[in-house]
Parts: sequence; structure tokens; C-alpha cells
Amino acid sequence: MMYEEEDFLSLSGIQHFEFCRRQWALIHIEQQWADNLRTVEGELFHSKAHDGSVAEKRGGLIISRGMAVYSRTLGINGVCDIVEFQKDETGIELYGRKGKYKVYPVEYKKGEPKTNDIDILQLVAQIMCLEEMICCSIDTGYLYYGETRHRIKITVDKGMREKVTNIFEEMHDMYSRRYTPKVKMTKSCNACSLKDICIPKLCKNKSAKKYIETLIAEVDDQ
Ligand code: SF4
Repeated sequence: MMYEEEDFLSLSGIQHFEFCRRQWALIHIEQQWADNLRTVEGELFHSKAHDGSVAEKRGGLIISRGMAVYSRTLGINGVCDIVEFQKDETGIELYGRKGKYKVYPVEYKKGEPKTNDIDILQLVAQIMCLEEMICCSIDTGYLYYGETRHRIKITVDKGMREKVTNIFEEMHDMYSRRYTPKVKMTKSCNACSLKDICIPKLCKNKSAKKYIETLIAEVDDQ
């Protein structure tokens, strides 16, 4: 299946979706957004990665910043922080450039490496977009973490590609039904930028009356 441009979903939404499907739906379907310290710091960090010239050349390396990418088969679009084109005879030809190049996206993250695969999935989605756009095969990308000031090499396999494909299929299905899942409280809720909008405690107790009575009692006690 090929998606039309108007049906594209945000590539970076895969981070929200894997963090919590309800959070993704609140942001991308219901258009609710709340910044917390983490999201503001993350935005500033990314704007630094995108800052500067669109492309620069260092010897056999071309660095492209803030490159727009899309995939009609996944139905997504987004931006790569950095795409590096490294001169390599086994690579592809680039319009207006001599020689052949291999393509490596680099995704910047403010914090430190995570214990889950959320960042890896976003990088794999970028790789799948680049492969479709410039008709090449990419087996490697990098995640750079601001906290450790270090980049990690990620080798992409079939399982990762299938997982990304399945996630975006599920996302398109939820989006077409405008479906927002119910609260499922996890430890992620503490770090969630939408917890004041989502109000997980309210939904968990399943009684708005009880929640409001508690709030009133807290105000009376002050
Ligand atoms: S508060 Fe919890 S359930 Fe609600 S959107 Fe955030 S992570 Fe999801």
C-alpha cells in the first residue's frame, strides 16, 4: 500500500507511541501538547543539531543537517538531525557529486542511552525513509547522546524493520479511527509531559466524583 501525502503521520511520533499509545493519541489525534523540562531541553538540543549550514563537506564526508525525509509505504514524514554521506566505492552516486557514497543517518538525543529500543526504532524509521527516497540500502546508523557525548553504532536487521512497519500500521489504524486508548498507568506516567492533561490517577480510580472531592478536600485543608 502507498499512502498519500495528506495521510502521512509524524515519523518522530514513534517515540510517543512506544512510550505510551495514549500519549501519542493525545498529541497526534487530539492535538494536545504540554511541555515539561525534558521536552524543552530535548527541543533545544535538537535545534542545535539542526543549526548551521544545510550541508557541509569535510574531505570525503558530506554532512547534511535537518534533512526532510518521507516514506510512502510507511506513510510517514519527518526530519533527520544529520545524514552523513561517506565516500565509498560500494555506495551510491549522488547528483552533482563525484564518486560514490554510503549513507548514515545520525539521530541526536539529549540524555543518555535508554534501556528500551525507542531511539533505535526512530533511527530505523529514518533509515527506511532514506532507502525509499534515494533508492539505496542502509545497514547502519548512529545514535548520539549528549549526556555521554558519544555515538553508538546501530546495525539494522530484518526484525527491527518489521517492528517499525507494524508500529506504523497500528498507528495508521488508530489514527483512521481517531481512537485514544484508555489510561494504563505505568512508571512512565511520572515522566510524562501530558500527565496533567491525561490525569492517570483520575482514570485509574474510575470516579471523577471521588477525584474532585479529594481535590476540594486538599484545598480546604490549606
Ligand atoms: S500520564 Fe501515563 S497513561 Fe497518561 S499519557 Fe502519560 S504515560 Fe500515558
